[in-house]
Amino acid sequence: MTVVARSASEDKDALRAALLGWYDAAARTLPWRAGPGSGTRTDPYRVWLSEVMLQQTTVPHATPYFLKFTERWPMVGDLAAAPDAELMAAWAGLGYYARARNLLACARAVASDHGGVFPDTEAGLRALPGVGAYTAAAVAAIAFDREANVVDGNVERVMARLSAVETPVPAARPELARLAGLLVTDQRPGDWAQALMDLGATVCRPKSPACLVCPVRDWCAGYASGAPERFPVKLKKADRPHRQGFAYVLRDGDGRVALVQRPAKGLLGGMMGLPTSDWGATPADSPPVEADWTDAGAIEHVFTHFSLTLSVRVATGQGEFVWTAEDAAAKALPTVFAKALTRGLA
Ligand code: SF4
Repeated sequence: MTVVARSASEDKDALRAALLGWYDAAARTLPWRAGPGSGTRTDPYRVWLSEVMLQQTTVPHATPYFLKFTERWPMVGDLAAAPDAELMAAWAGLGYYARARNLLACARAVASDHGGVFPDTEAGLRALPGVGAYTAAAVAAIAFDREANVVDGNVERVMARLSAVETPVPAARPELARLAGLLVTDQRPGDWAQALMDLGATVCRPKSPACLVCPVRDWCAGYASGAPERFPVKLKKADRPHRQGFAYVLRDGDGRVALVQRPAKGLLGGMMGLPTSDWGATPADSPPVEADWTDAGAIEHVFTHFSLTLSVRVATGQGEFVWTAEDAAAKALPTVFAKALTRGLA
């Protein structure tokens, strides 16, 4: 049987009605959310906090942190007054400490420059420190019901499937954002943003989309193609350049391992990492300190733009690093370094 999808952009009103109707009945209950159509907008502080946390982790992982934060710091002014070290300690386990620092900078700007009240427009939110385009759009839509185009990975996937976009990501991103924008109107923009997020998270899942229960199946060219999980199209491994590098696991013999904070700009910017060599075709082995380095094998990791083989070297020594307990270090590290650390400690 051949399935022909109706056009998502031309049939926009019907598609929107179907998805919003589904959301009204099936919205996830989340602690930072007012229910669909409840007429009460969610506290922007809670929306903002949840969106920052969710940028790096899943709903089940972020939820206890969100509850802990909002119990301890119920208003943005409370968070703004928190000592840096306390906030950082509460953030531990969420990783990516640059985000925690930005969180504090933003809370302090809202408290000191805006009287403790979040700006209610996308542009006003975007001007806050550490608030990127995605977070500004999400808070504007969800907290203030502004007509904002909220595009995260879930929404990109839904758009790629609805329109069967053949351009691979990341090159397709502007097109996916444009397609998402075509469906945004001034009617229930906050619910619309959350409905799309919920659809991507619970129905249009990355590996096994549940098309048979999908409210927008009639408009989905990906479904009509018979292979919706093919979208968004990704570059094949062979099409990605391959790089090599060294990662250094330096232990102090006292249960701690040396970490470094990566430069704010660039790949994994601002995150904690292991000391490494340059990454390239034939990088030089360049340990961070002189020590008796031994080989511990290698790990493979695939980034969006390239794949990487990291040779892991291990030694015991000292130096100016962020010394972190070995059993806690992996939790603070992006996956590539967590893999290398695990290899080094094996
Ligand atoms: S029909 Fe399937 S692929 Fe298309 S949007 Fe729904 S769940 Fe995703």
